[in-house]
Amino acid sequence: MDLRKSDFIEDLNHRLAAIRAEGLYRELRPLNSPQGPHIQIQNQSLVNFSSNDYLGLANDPLLRIAASQAVDRYGVGGGASRLICGTFTPHDELEQALASFKGTEAALAFSSGYTAALGTISALLGKNDIVIIDKLVHACIIDACRLSGASLRVFAHNDLHDLDEILRWADGQKTKDSPTPKPRVLVVTESVFSMDGDLAPLVEIVRLKEHYGAWLMVDEAHATGLYGTRRRGWAEACGVADQIEIQMGTLSKAIGSAGGYVCGSRSLIDFLVNRARSFIFSTSPIPASAAAATAAIGFIQSPCGEQRCLQLWQRVDQITKGLIKCGVKKLVIGTTHEITRQSGAIIPLLIGDELKAMNVASALRAHGILIPAIRYPTVARGAARLRLTISAAHTEADISTLLEALSNILPC
Ligand SMILES: *Cc1c(COP(=O)(O)O)cnc(C)c1O
Repeated sequence: MDLRKSDFIEDLNHRLAAIRAEGLYRELRPLNSPQGPHIQIQNQSLVNFSSNDYLGLANDPLLRIAASQAVDRYGVGGGASRLICGTFTPHDELEQALASFKGTEAALAFSSGYTAALGTISALLGKNDIVIIDKLVHACIIDACRLSGASLRVFAHNDLHDLDEILRWADGQKTKDSPTPKPRVLVVTESVFSMDGDLAPLVEIVRLKEHYGAWLMVDEAHATGLYGTRRRGWAEACGVADQIEIQMGTLSKAIGSAGGYVCGSRSLIDFLVNRARSFIFSTSPIPASAAAATAAIGFIQSPCGEQRCLQLWQRVDQITKGLIKCGVKKLVIGTTHEITRQSGAIIPLLIGDELKAMNVASALRAHGILIPAIRYPTVARGAARLRLTISAAHTEADISTLLEALSNILPC
């Protein structure tokens, strides 16, 4: 049979055509350089304003050396799940470093942030339980909630009133006279939102969950390494880290390596080792990525790490001032984020229309700048945007190049 003519391929081609027609088609582009502020894509040199490598660690010699030493010592493949063939020293060291960095009793490393969320929420909750999430949480949290089978309730983005009402409803479910066990209630939010760059009101969220006796899980993917005096994250900066039952994040953003983590009590970690399916049924990640992450965590806690973080905030400052000067503020149609209310290294330039966002992105590429358009389903339909991210590794000149290109392209 000729596969090209089969129903299967025909069906896929039909669906792909529909994706293209909506301006939502995605494709992979070969990258021929390390990750960094300057990259080579399809042999074009681009200044990269799209990476989550906020501290410029992804290609740092410190991490490269740690990873290559781990390869020399432990090889490449993990052989099996960590519960089967044993836990490599670099995984142990990473978990100790994570727990001490975050100030928690224990930590567990996963192969990605995605699988950390998936394994954790689906282990903690079942169909009799209730999970309450912010409307804008990352896809991995939504998928995890669905997988758990718990009743899912969504509160409007950062809306404490809405959260309060849902928590009150959930509390009512607990006191209801029913033969089934009382539901567990878990609230999940991000601390820095990945596509809008704004911050969750963690102090108030903690107050609410304590009031109703619910549990809280916070995804610090975009905050770890950047906020708080010890750079533990936004929970530290808010002074509420000790009251959060489950702190999760990724090792792939500011930490510059790969993998995910959960930090919390010893009991939580012991429970996840026994119940988190994405941990149990997946081969241990390459020890080199753990070794690189441990090196990064050491660096982040050092005076050099503090310096690097300060440099990031200086660049953010330069860029926000420049954007306001060239009038880009007008483009920010969302209510969640204003450029003047500088909050972080993620600055979404909301465009709205998907095709228009694609056109702006390609015009920027012609100017040697990479900021891909972020479209549905990553963000809502009609909320396409250029998600501009800043790294400590950008130079002042990189930022001037960006501002000049934006002022040429955007209808300021
Ligand atoms: C990137 C991201 C994840 C997933 O982490 P990976 O290590 O890339 O799988 C989880 N949550 C948020 C908010 C993220 O932005």
